[in-house]
Amino acid sequence: MKNAGKKKRVVVIGAGIGGMSAAIMLASKGFLVTVLEKNSHAGGKLNLLETKGFRFDLGPSIFTLPQIFRPIFEGEGRKLEDYVKLQRLDPQWRNFFEDGTVVDLWEDPKKMRQELKRFGSLTSDEYESFLSYSRQQYQIVERGYLRHGLDTFSQFLRFYGWKDARDLDYLRSMAGSIRSRLSNRYLRDIFEYFIKYVGSSALDSPAFMNLMPNIQMEFGLWYVSGGLYELARAFQRRMEECGVTLLLGQEAQEIERADGLVTGVRTCGLDGSAGFVKADYIVSNMEVIPAMQKLLHAPPSAMKKMRRFKPSCSGIVLHLGLDRVYPQLAHHNFFYSTDLHQHFRRVFREGKLPDDPTLYVVAPTRTDPSQAPAGCDNIKILPHIPSLDDSHPTTREDYAALKEICLDKLERMGMTDLRRHIVVEDFWTPFDIETHYGSHRGSIYGVVCDRLSNYAFKAPKQSFQFRNLFFVGGSTNPGAGMPMVALCGQHVARMIAEQDAKEAQ
Ligand SMILES: Cc1cc2nc3c(=O)[nH]c(=O)nc-3n(C[C@H](O)[C@H](O)[C@H](O)COP(=O)(O)OP(=O)(O)OC[C@H]3O[C@@H](n4cnc5c(N)ncnc54)[C@H](O)[C@@H]3O)c2cc1C
Repeated sequence: MKNAGKKKRVVVIGAGIGGMSAAIMLASKGFLVTVLEKNSHAGGKLNLLETKGFRFDLGPSIFTLPQIFRPIFEGEGRKLEDYVKLQRLDPQWRNFFEDGTVVDLWEDPKKMRQELKRFGSLTSDEYESFLSYSRQQYQIVERGYLRHGLDTFSQFLRFYGWKDARDLDYLRSMAGSIRSRLSNRYLRDIFEYFIKYVGSSALDSPAFMNLMPNIQMEFGLWYVSGGLYELARAFQRRMEECGVTLLLGQEAQEIERADGLVTGVRTCGLDGSAGFVKADYIVSNMEVIPAMQKLLHAPPSAMKKMRRFKPSCSGIVLHLGLDRVYPQLAHHNFFYSTDLHQHFRRVFREGKLPDDPTLYVVAPTRTDPSQAPAGCDNIKILPHIPSLDDSHPTTREDYAALKEICLDKLERMGMTDLRRHIVVEDFWTPFDIETHYGSHRGSIYGVVCDRLSNYAFKAPKQSFQFRNLFFVGGSTNPGAGMPMVALCGQHVARMIAEQDAKEAQ
């Protein structure tokens, strides 16, 4: 046996949820793990702003699929709940439409049936049948693609076979399948907008993405007490317990290569100091395309293979501290475009800023009063917009104009005098998202789901150029959102351990 007993060194570039998940799982398998993070906090897009008594979660606000996080926190008799307190939210979403209609989405089937009563029994029947279909799609995708970490179409076919894959709704678009199953226009918009979880368009995503409502309805929609950033703190604590070395303020500048393998990472500290960390394996939580371009200077032939992995949408993110409360808001709210398909077409096909965006509005004080001073409100407003694109250049002024459109829309749809009640404002544009997290063209969720270019596959987790280089996070399979990147980290750790064991024989 070669190198028996010698601990292998792994360098993880980036302390996002994906990177930290891989780091924890690798350390618990006996690897010596160092995490390099360019920013001064761990968590990546899980980020926090505390100011004037307001506590803003700058990134994620919805926690789903807790079971995926469990293995990361298990060991020495501990469990996820020893690190974070989870609260299940119901209603899950409140949905506001321009005609004044408001529809709550309840996990509780009795409450949902009551909510839909005003639309007649056909709507309730179609709703229930849609959830069964969503569950079926989830179960198929879970037992192969998610559980086994499938990366390519050929692996997919080998696992499922043509016969088995037949039950997967892949020929239609997500919106097409919804249209054939639901006649209620409000439910159509609500279920189409589940595609927000992966920053894509329901017109262009394959229909099996309709699995997403099942994730919420079967396993719940959760809040992390104290704010979602507590999850980043929990990951950091777990890394410390597992003996992972975390180096904050250390940017990876270049991945060194020799003899067809990667050998280490050149770094630059916040003070400009240069360094080098040797590695037997490297895991990049920097997205695949920027990592290949900036850290590996990959040749155009290698970049060509990546063209199908276009970035997901970006967003402007507006965090507002208000000196009043808008009682009509639930914890999670959506204010829909008059024509949602027009919104999808404009953002995802034409690459233009929306003129009537769908707005996601989060008001965490509904569950956790500690997020704002008494009598005040803390809200996040997030419309999805195109990622940065040189063929449609946008400026900060364009984003500032869009912000005004969003505020107009909310004032029109019931949040009267919103502007007058703003006491704190924090505003992120795609430029900030790109610079701060190193994401590809300011994407929020990694790679877009698109039937024509990638059929919802993201980049593979193992580099096709260097067998000891792996990628983790939203730009790789299974893709975006905290549960998926946490799962990706677990798959990467397993792949490295299996490869290492094989090569040691
Ligand atoms: C506003 C917003 C709202 C969202 N809402 C939700 C939600 O409600 N629920 C949900 O599940 N998901 C949500 N998401 C998506 C979710 O945040 C991401 O899918 C997930 O956090 C991505 O994790 P990651 O590990 O892939 O990458 P990231 O979180 O982007 O982490 C990558 C890390 O790598 C670091 N890095 C990059 N380059 C280098 C380098 N060269 N050297 C060193 N370090 C480097 C970055 O600084 C960063 O810390 C949201 C995202 C945003 C921005």
